[in-house]
Amino acid sequence: MAKQTTDIIEKSLHNLLNEPNFLPELKNDARDKAIHSLITILSTPNHIHKSYLRIARENGVIERIPAFRMQHNDTLGPYKGGIRFHESVNEAEVINLAALMTLKNALHEVPFGGGKGGVAINPRDYSTKELYQICTKYVQYFNEILGPDKDIPAPDVGTSAREMDWMMSEYKSIHYGKPYLGSFTGKSVLNGGSLGRKEATGKGVYYTLRYLLHDYLQENHQHLAQSQTQQAAAALDCRNRPITLAVQGFGNVGSVTATEAYHCQYINNTIVAVSDRNVTLYNPDGLDIPALAKYAAANRGDLPYTKEQIVEAGIQAEILDREAVLYLNVDVLILAALEDQIRADNVEQVQAPIIVEGANAPIAGEADDILTAKGILVIPDILANAGGVIVSYFEWLQGRETQYYSESEVFEQLHCKMGKTMNKVYPLYFSSNKSLRQTCFDHAIMRISSILYAQGKLF
Ligand code: GLU
Repeated sequence: MAKQTTDIIEKSLHNLLNEPNFLPELKNDARDKAIHSLITILSTPNHIHKSYLRIARENGVIERIPAFRMQHNDTLGPYKGGIRFHESVNEAEVINLAALMTLKNALHEVPFGGGKGGVAINPRDYSTKELYQICTKYVQYFNEILGPDKDIPAPDVGTSAREMDWMMSEYKSIHYGKPYLGSFTGKSVLNGGSLGRKEATGKGVYYTLRYLLHDYLQENHQHLAQSQTQQAAAALDCRNRPITLAVQGFGNVGSVTATEAYHCQYINNTIVAVSDRNVTLYNPDGLDIPALAKYAAANRGDLPYTKEQIVEAGIQAEILDREAVLYLNVDVLILAALEDQIRADNVEQVQAPIIVEGANAPIAGEADDILTAKGILVIPDILANAGGVIVSYFEWLQGRETQYYSESEVFEQLHCKMGKTMNKVYPLYFSSNKSLRQTCFDHAIMRISSILYAQGKLF
């Protein structure tokens, strides 16, 4: 597991030692032992499943592709988390992402544990037929450990409703006659998916920012004005004035987050930059996000990156290199690409006083410490990007009831669930000197620990 995650878990548990309502039944020695056990339990996954998927390429050559399903912790319910198709997928990374799912679900009180899957391919290098084969093989290899009450995958980087539909259908054939609708979430609506699931992560990411700068600060302005933290100053400074945003990544998360910001009536945002794997597009007067989303949808998800393409997209923008998005002088930087984008070697160039983690683990450990020391407010992944798994939970429930919610009901419930979490962690954060990430980890770990104790697992 990434050292960063284990370090924060350990720190949380040491913080919790001083919390009067943390396992109050346990005294001194017993408390220390429980902390030790919790560090062990949470720093290691329950199960590591790995295999090679053997597939026949279109050219007749057989390929063996590394594939993983990591089950980190199931204290709160069945394992839950996406399946990633990306060439950099490796065992340690998937374990870390599974641990983040455990914490994300605990933080938002979603009754699931944490899991994650991965297949080490660049999906762009494979034909549709080959991808179909990879999906069905994945389910064949891991079918015994998956299921609506065991472990429920969903889309992640490089996968979408199409792959979930294929996988659920394979699961259904293998487990013929058993319930299958809840075996995968993030499916197409036609195939039992939930309305709003596709947009849920991006919507939730923007909601954490909007809630902070509009709803929360509106009500707690006085309290924050008294706070001496630099983080409170960063938030207050962005309140009720036009702010600039840069969004790294224009996939399913970044494009929806940018679109939400573009249409938001509560905050006067200008999205001055968006980026993807090829380019950063910059316009200090604001980018036409709907036009860019339309262009990307028609061009395999890519933003325009030549002058001709920019004309074709009908937008005005300067073309910068793809990393430039990270270093712009903006109020808010939204990271919605991959992990480890801000590291010790580039953190000093980052200028934004507020950063939102739309992706999982986009800030590496040392860089995170530097940002915290500088008073930069980071809305962490487990808080910001939980919209996807929250609506996955709604999808799973709808599958059980075979009853479907309207899109507005889904978004209303999503906002309600995330709002509830923010109402807990924002006040704690602004009244302490801990980072928001640490505050969220503390909160999540407190919940898991109390439940483990109640279940008799901490003796
Ligand atoms: N892959 C998403 C995440 O990292 C969603 C997981 C899910 O819906 O289970 O949160």
